[in-house]
Amino acid sequence: EIPKLKHEYQSDVARLRKIVINSLYSNRDAFLRELISNANDALEKLRIVALTDKDVWDGTSPLNVTIKAESNPDGNGGRIIITDTGIGMNVDELTSNLGILAKSGTSDFVARVEGQEGGLNGNLIGAFGVGFYSSFLVADKVTVASIPPKSSKNPHPTQNVFSSSADESSFEIYPDPRGNTLGHGTEITLELKSDASDYLHPSNLMKLIHQHSSFSTSFPIYLWNEVEEEVSLEDHTAEVDSNESQDEEEALVEETNPTDSTPKTKKILVQKWEHINSQPPLWMRDPKTVSDEEYELLYQATFKDFRKPLAWNHFTGDSGSGVSFRAIIYIPSSIDDTFFTKPLESNAKDVRLLVKHVFITSDLGEYDLPKWASWVRVIIDAEDLPLNVSRETLQSSTFLKQIRGIVIRRLIQLFAKIAEEEDDKFAEIQKVYRTIFKLGATEDEKNRQKIATLVRFSTNQRNSTSLDNYIKNKKQGQKQIFYLADMGKSISHLTGSVFVEKLDARGYEVLLLNEPVDEILVQTLRTWKGFKFQDVAKAGLVFGDDTDEDREAMAALEKKYAPLLEWLKVETEEVVRNVVLSDRLVTSPCAVVADSTGITANVQRLMSATNR
Ligand code: ADP
Ligand code: MG
Repeated sequence: EIPKLKHEYQSDVARLRKIVINSLYSNRDAFLRELISNANDALEKLRIVALTDKDVWDGTSPLNVTIKAESNPDGNGGRIIITDTGIGMNVDELTSNLGILAKSGTSDFVARVEGQEGGLNGNLIGAFGVGFYSSFLVADKVTVASIPPKSSKNPHPTQNVFSSSADESSFEIYPDPRGNTLGHGTEITLELKSDASDYLHPSNLMKLIHQHSSFSTSFPIYLWNEVEEEVSLEDHTAEVDSNESQDEEEALVEETNPTDSTPKTKKILVQKWEHINSQPPLWMRDPKTVSDEEYELLYQATFKDFRKPLAWNHFTGDSGSGVSFRAIIYIPSSIDDTFFTKPLESNAKDVRLLVKHVFITSDLGEYDLPKWASWVRVIIDAEDLPLNVSRETLQSSTFLKQIRGIVIRRLIQLFAKIAEEEDDKFAEIQKVYRTIFKLGATEDEKNRQKIATLVRFSTNQRNSTSLDNYIKNKKQGQKQIFYLADMGKSISHLTGSVFVEKLDARGYEVLLLNEPVDEILVQTLRTWKGFKFQDVAKAGLVFGDDTDEDREAMAALEKKYAPLLEWLKVETEEVVRNVVLSDRLVTSPCAVVADSTGITANVQRLMSATNR
């Protein structure tokens, strides 16, 4: 009798398990996707560890996922066994990975969902990393046998079992009485609930895997399946024996053509491991043959974002140093609220670099994308880098630098194409990426002009204009791009500003800038197509359409009001530098403006904010 160590689940786990079961019932198919995705992660980890520790994997033993359904002999119920040859788990890992909610955010998540009407949305489950617990959607009891590979640190690993118990509040961990049956990896056995017997049919499993999981892994998935094989009558026995499966086969012999008196071949049904995801990965295909839905599913499975991407670009490229690659760039439908406030290092690393379909890294080190583009999600599959290239060598190569340049260029092209061809979509993109474009144009010197063409501004005349369209809309003789900047104020507040009044009355368009990055952007750009940016809140504003008469009238007024100005200057000496006559105001009698060479109130505010 092997001693079984009994553990209580961390309290959150028991709660989580309940939530998953209660709110995901109608979405129970999710379990298979989650377990395959975990198997894929474990296989990727093994590969990566093996790059630096050759003991872990000899480079030849198969890395794969196998799925087998077993019916009980009495025909009632049965189990599904999902096995991977991945990184496995030792006793501690079995305990903490499957018995404790390791992710700090998950407890909050549990609390949120519990308080939420209707419970958890099925699509969120994978995103929040509660994946393993989806097993309990279809299983009463889950047994996980696991063994890590031999490594220099752990030369004699043992196979252990995690077993959920019937009381739902505890689990057991014990050495596997069968010894090491796996080599390395993990075997998950789901004792199916009585109402989940449909999953015992391989055809149903196959359908599910094709629907949900063909994008989750690039490792081969084998399904224990009944397949029809045509064998020649003469060497029928030999054919069956040479079958690639090591498991016993049950062969059902059937005559193909009973009316033919001398049949040459027979069709037989054999049970064997069928490789069910042998198609090349989606990004290797011709983009013309890939549907939107396929791109979306790939995105969702790869980046665990269950909202659809806004757009993507699938292309073939050459790094310039002779490395050819395929890539898909995805634009997510939202970016984190915290994106602008958190430091670059803490951004998600979502450029997945593969070599010959095998995941290598998503850490590009010093060639990580710049802040403004760090939200983009990319799959890059390089053709001819040496497969065992270490991450250190990779990072010192020019390849990553070139890749970064190409991704950014393609990203800008993708946005530009949408801006040109799809108004509605670009409006949608502006909702999410408005500030990103401004940040990019400020940050990215090399691509500044191109990114700036994507920037849209509100004006006193319309909700949104590009700089190019602003210039198209200029008045005769206009030499400047007028703007008013007041950080944090609403657009309607800016429209009503005294500084805009006069220009508005004369029919000039004024850019209304209310984001912190806006004023930095116009100061970085300085000009656009030869037009200088002119702050309408600064003194010395000249319109292009002033006539000689205007100027004469102004001179007369200046003369007339000289005594008043003199008096005002003396009276306000302590607070303003100068008092001048203005023809900029329409309904307001006076305004306090910034010096034409001084910094504006807005920048002043910005500077004191950053100096704090
Ligand atoms: P997530 O995959 O988001 O981390 P899961 O609940 O799906 O969350 O899995 C929890 C953890 O259990 C994983 O992070 C991993 O460490 C471990 N795990 C699950 N399945 C496997 C497996 N097949 N092989 C190795 N480790 C696994
Ligand atoms: Mg998972």
